[in-house]
Amino acid sequence: MGFQTQPKEFEYMAPANLEDASKLYLSYGEKACILAGGTDIVPLMKRGLLAPECVIDITKIPDMSYIRLEDGVLKLGALTTIEDFRESPLIEQNYPALHMASEVMGSTIIRNLATVGANICRASPASDMAPPLVVLGANLRIFGPKGVRTTPIEDFFLGFGRSEMAAGEILCEIEVPASPDKQAFMKLKRTKEDLAKINISTAFNLSDDKCSGIKIALGSVAPKVVRAEKTEKFLEGKELSEANIEEAKRIICREINPIDDVRSTAEYRMEMSKVLLGRVIRLALKGGW
Ligand SMILES: Cc1cc2nc3c(=O)[nH]c(=O)nc-3n(C[C@H](O)[C@H](O)[C@H](O)COP(=O)(O)OP(=O)(O)OC[C@H]3O[C@@H](n4cnc5c(N)ncnc54)[C@H](O)[C@@H]3O)c2cc1C
Repeated sequence: MGFQTQPKEFEYMAPANLEDASKLYLSYGEKACILAGGTDIVPLMKRGLLAPECVIDITKIPDMSYIRLEDGVLKLGALTTIEDFRESPLIEQNYPALHMASEVMGSTIIRNLATVGANICRASPASDMAPPLVVLGANLRIFGPKGVRTTPIEDFFLGFGRSEMAAGEILCEIEVPASPDKQAFMKLKRTKEDLAKINISTAFNLSDDKCSGIKIALGSVAPKVVRAEKTEKFLEGKELSEANIEEAKRIICREINPIDDVRSTAEYRMEMSKVLLGRVIRLALKGGW
């Protein structure tokens, strides 16, 4: 009597280093999927919405999860979990926008698994880590068949679920070069553990009541995270007075392109982007919640 073996639904590979992971990823191409915390891909695979031939588990690769400061640059391993972020005193004290984002992302169970690298690599417009990393001017270090390259996070996102990641490439580190005095992040969501209807982050320095180097980024209001450059240009060098914030609200409407979806309507998103702009600037000025 012979045994009938069920065909494997997918190959599972757990390479021990980045070189092997990259080679595997290159050889399988789009038929492979990287597994980090699994909070995005496992639900999709269970529902049959994603059916890779090969799952490449990168969690066995050493030294991919860390939060450290080197010569004033914050370095984050791609496999650092969101909960590690939330609990890090270094992040809480020096990078409040990142801390605030980690506080409102998912549930404790999700945060314990979800990694910061995957939150960026998925290129979801609702990513909670993207807006603060954009306003902090983060750079991504990406390992691939040609070695390691560095790219500004802003150039990385191309559209809904699309990034400039090439075949065989794996995000290994996120670098945050500076930490302006004033920072904040806010998010609107339907329930406590939901993706954003809108999220927004800002960072700036303040001297003699005037802001400089102001950056503003929003999520869930366009196919990819939006840097509100016209609004920034208007506010740059000015006092963040109520009158200036009111004018900035008028400008920001022209920089976003929200849609109706299961989480919200375009109209609500447009209105609330204005409200959140005022709130996030005031929150940053106040120095946190
Ligand atoms: C119930 C629930 C609530 C959620 N709430 C939120 C929320 O509030 N905010 C939010 O932003 N997200 C939320 N998410 C989405 C998800 O948790 C995050 O996007 C998370 O950061 C994904 O991390 P992961 O390690 O689990 O990803 P995985 O599922 O392991 O990986 C996702 C994909 O990212 C890519 N990838 C992962 N790591 C790398 C790498 N190093 N290099 C190259 N590609 C890589 C791969 O393509 C992989 O297929 C939620 C998900 C669930 C299920």
